[in-house]
Amino acid sequence: MSQLLNQVAVVTGAGRGIGQSIALKLAAAGADLVCVDLKPEANQETADQVAALGRKAWMYGANVSDAAQVDAVAEKILADVGKVDILVNNAGITRDTLLMRMTEADWDLVLDINLKGTFLFTKAFTRAFLKQRSGRIINIASVIGLMGNAGQCNYGASKAGVIGFTKCVARELASRSITANAIAPGFIQTAMTDKLPEEARKALQTQIPLQSLGLPDDVAEAVLFFASPGARYITGQVLAVDGGLAM
Ligand code: NAP
Repeated sequence: MSQLLNQVAVVTGAGRGIGQSIALKLAAAGADLVCVDLKPEANQETADQVAALGRKAWMYGANVSDAAQVDAVAEKILADVGKVDILVNNAGITRDTLLMRMTEADWDLVLDINLKGTFLFTKAFTRAFLKQRSGRIINIASVIGLMGNAGQCNYGASKAGVIGFTKCVARELASRSITANAIAPGFIQTAMTDKLPEEARKALQTQIPLQSLGLPDDVAEAVLFFASPGARYITGQVLAVDGGLAM
């Protein structure tokens, strides 16, 4: 399959979990990959696997919530690689606790990485997208941004924010054939959900119509769709990849 041949994709949080699966899925479809994580070396495993698929891989380090780092890394990516066709804002964190116990630091950290990071990375590549009159922006939100969850006020607010941001960007950039869509994963098996106690995991599974946690690859398939030529007429949408949890 080579529907993304000669395309360059930037994936944030590409070192592990869902971001790694997204990078490998896009590479398997022919794209060259720019892998961004907190530290450049965190991308090594992903970059090696991209190379094994016969695609080019570049590794960069940046904290997505730091405007100066994001601007510097975006400038370097465009200078080193020449262009970007697909941007996947995937980096994200949780700091779960009940509202009564949530500190201002818990709130700020999650909003800064999940929401501000998505804003900063999108803004940093927007001029390039506008100039080339094309671009696919794919933001990884969460079903928690659609349905809420006790103990995740900061996370739910950040992901609802990502969804609102995606729709505004879609409207602003549509006239230049740039699309922006969001994916809302449900509960996916990664380090983020490994922290769940076994009982909570079992309770969760009973609420999911398809009765199991999803895999990172399930989310990557949806990203591939939004990045593919077949999705050229789709923008401002939120696709839940959640086993039916949020329907
Ligand atoms: P993960 O396994 O914890 O991986 C997150 C990745 O993001 C890591 O590579 C991490 O780097 C990187 N990262 C964290 N903070 C960063 C920062 N400030 N700057 C740059 N990179 C940073 O998480 P995941 O489960 O794959 O989640 C990926 C995305 O999917 C997140 O946006 C998450 O909210 C969303 N999501 C996940 C689930 C789920 O069930 N897993 C459900 C819904 C939505 P380090 O390795 O260096 O920490």
